[in-house]
Amino acid sequence: MTGGSRGIGAATARAAAAAGWSVALTYRDDEAAAADVVTGIEAAGGTARAVRADVSVEDDVLAAFAAAEGLGPVTGLVANAGIVGERARVDELTAERVQRMLAVNVLGTVLCCREAVRRMSTRHGGSGGSVVLLSSAASRLGSPGEYVDYAASKGAVDTLGVGLAREVADEGVRVNVVRPGIIETEIHASGGQPDRVARVGPTVPMGRAGLPEEVAAAVLWLLGNDAAYCTGSLLDVAGGR
Ligand code: NAP
Repeated sequence: MTGGSRGIGAATARAAAAAGWSVALTYRDDEAAAADVVTGIEAAGGTARAVRADVSVEDDVLAAFAAAEGLGPVTGLVANAGIVGERARVDELTAERVQRMLAVNVLGTVLCCREAVRRMSTRHGGSGGSVVLLSSAASRLGSPGEYVDYAASKGAVDTLGVGLAREVADEGVRVNVVRPGIIETEIHASGGQPDRVARVGPTVPMGRAGLPEEVAAAVLWLLGNDAAYCTGSLLDVAGGR
């Protein structure tokens, strides 16, 4: 579980632990938030470990998977870590910003998928597993005037999910993609729009933003055996948006 310290990742880590998974969750900076998630899971009788890892750094990803293996064979991956940028048009973007966006959202996701497949695929001696990628409704909407680079990075995640799913479908590994809409997390403030949920939430067809737990429920379903015949699916969790 990447990016398990806050937001959707933290909710998913809690839900996964409650469903019986031993959870290795990564964080980039917020050690205290990650520790809180672990403490909460343990207090509820679950098993979790927090690992500092920047998903855009290959050595960090390798170390995170090594730490996860300390909890047992890796049979699930939720590739959730992701960033947005400040509100900007494409004609205002800097190369540095786009490189960072793609490094975290795309390269990081690909690296985690690679390591997961190396451990889960029957081709590599594994016993199978399940991968869920966090994309965004932005990949459909394009996020004009806001962050088209972010939307494009999530378009890459969608395509990665579909392609990888077909690549490993007969190797015991399922790969699916969840595309949240506007969800109540700190990601909006990190992109300089702390009022985004209050502003955009009421414009969603369901009239409100979603909760991290509502995304986590969809992730958990795809991760587990109830979704045994789902692979290459893109599941929108976006209140009709
Ligand atoms: P969030 O509240 O900002 O939390 C982001 C999480 O990712 C944190 O745990 C953070 O760790 C971690 N992270 C950030 N950069 C990282 C890096 N380079 N390496 C490793 N971990 C990193 O975000 P969120 O809203 O829960 O979003 C989670 C995912 O859902 C993202 O992929 C996002 O694009 C997607 N999504 C969110 C929304 C929404 O409305 N919230 C909508 C659509 C899609 P630290 O705590 O250490 O910083």
